[in-house]
Amino acid sequence: MSTEVWWSSLAAADRDLLGLLDGGERARVESLDRSADRGRSMVGAALLRVAVGAHLGTAPADVVVDRTCAECGGPHGAPRIAGTGTAAPSVSVSHSGLLAVVALVPRGPVGVDVQRLADLADPADGPAWATREALFKAGTPARGDVAIAELRPPLPGYAAVLVTPAGPAGTPRITHWPRPIRA
Ligand SMILES: [Zn+2]
Repeated sequence: MSTEVWWSSLAAADRDLLGLLDGGERARVESLDRSADRGRSMVGAALLRVAVGAHLGTAPADVVVDRTCAECGGPHGAPRIAGTGTAAPSVSVSHSGLLAVVALVPRGPVGVDVQRLADLADPADGPAWATREALFKAGTPARGDVAIAELRPPLPGYAAVLVTPAGPAGTPRITHWPRPIRA
């Protein structure tokens, strides 16, 4: 099974998505002051559940996402899929500007990062910035243990990078949710 990349956009933000989220995710959304931040948080959490649900053949709301921080035990760590034993894929989530992205691999390190170039001091730094973030999310693996690839975001003005286990991963399968994203 290959790598899966799922894109969504802030245009998908809708209060109905809250019904897919667990209590911790809803609390996180409600805690944010700015509506754009609430939308990004909601769409990112929902997209993760939709992608993993499709991968496992379960309903998005039934996916168990563990966000326990490895440092302090708080609920803000990198998401891990729980409750499905060895079937649980490795996942990574990122959002910036109007876009959210989820990457999923059957096992091993994974990291994805999308960055709106206009938010950077120097937009030319986009790919390098996204690479650093994606490597961090993948657990800062040794470079030889992973493959690093630029993704083509579905909107102009963004950089995105995907880190996956080294080896012949092939081209990621790309899905837009809930509908095609067009500039
Ligand atoms: Zn922490």
